[in-house]
Amino acid sequence: MSSSPRENATEAAAIVFGVASILLVLCIRFPALFTTELAREFATERVLRVATSLVTLASLVAGGLTLHNRRSLRSALGLGLVLTSLLLGGPTAPRLAGSGSLLSADWLVLDGLLLVALFIPIERRLASHRTLRAGWKVDAAYFISNHLLAQSFIVLGAAVGHFLFHSVRIEATSRLPLALQVLCLLLVADLFQYWLHRAMHEIPALWAIHAVHHSADELDALAGSRVHLAETLLTRTVLASTFYLMGFTLPAILLFGALIAIQATLLHLRGRLSYGWLDRVIVSPKFHHWHHSSDREALDTNYAGTFAFLDRVFGSYHLPEGRWPLRYGVVKEVVPSSYWGQFFSPLKHL
Ligand SMILES: [Zn+2]
Ligand SMILES: [Zn+2]
Repeated sequence: MSSSPRENATEAAAIVFGVASILLVLCIRFPALFTTELAREFATERVLRVATSLVTLASLVAGGLTLHNRRSLRSALGLGLVLTSLLLGGPTAPRLAGSGSLLSADWLVLDGLLLVALFIPIERRLASHRTLRAGWKVDAAYFISNHLLAQSFIVLGAAVGHFLFHSVRIEATSRLPLALQVLCLLLVADLFQYWLHRAMHEIPALWAIHAVHHSADELDALAGSRVHLAETLLTRTVLASTFYLMGFTLPAILLFGALIAIQATLLHLRGRLSYGWLDRVIVSPKFHHWHHSSDREALDTNYAGTFAFLDRVFGSYHLPEGRWPLRYGVVKEVVPSSYWGQFFSPLKHL
């Protein structure tokens, strides 16, 4: 029996909210294991319980509608997930204390809901609806693994920062107003990221890792998640240790993290989104689409992630008026299509 796009969307919503509900219950029960240590000050137990109630309710409604429309095993999955969440204790699950923190399920849920509620609807307005791109499942695996492991990378980066810069830490930065700190963070991070990114294009061993990010032949809200774990580890460690050295405060780093997460998804959206003259100052989707182009004129250009003027300053700027790339992807490399194939592919270049 064929199903309408609306029915498919309700079914997907029931599953996404069901998974989110289970993850949030795990965050409540085992905060030490599943939540981001940095964010616990804001995503308090009370906030988690309210969020779980809302997500559970949304999943129950979507699951009920789906099952009402179509009685199949797949349509029952959303309800099955939310019932599992309730069996685990739902919004009233007991909280178990513990120490150490390695996973960030809270971060995965937050960004996952943002993806479903904000970016996918924007993308649908920008580009006519098409069937799901080949490779979306691999990118979903990247989305999950990179989000879940964010906490581990931050802990590692902070430890490296503490080890290297403990005695030379700049304390005065913490007295700057929050907005100024966030602006400084964006600038400092983009400067570091510019040269790290450029090195990844120019040094063959690093390109073998970064080629994974460029291997998507089409861009969309999920394609930006395709980043090899080694690249995520390298970038986060460099940035977290630098932030430690510079002495930025926790709220400023959290705000910066949220802005960067939104920006990383925006830049890869399917469709043609440009900011007009601002494209020359701030990195827009159009600017980053050219970075992903395999057209000869665009190779190894537009490295910045936030401030487009960095590419003007360092001579790698490419933004033709009124034109968009014709092709995307890598030029001659063969990047495997599976997650684990991509995971091990850089080893062949050693
Ligand atoms: Zn690149
Ligand atoms: Zn990209």
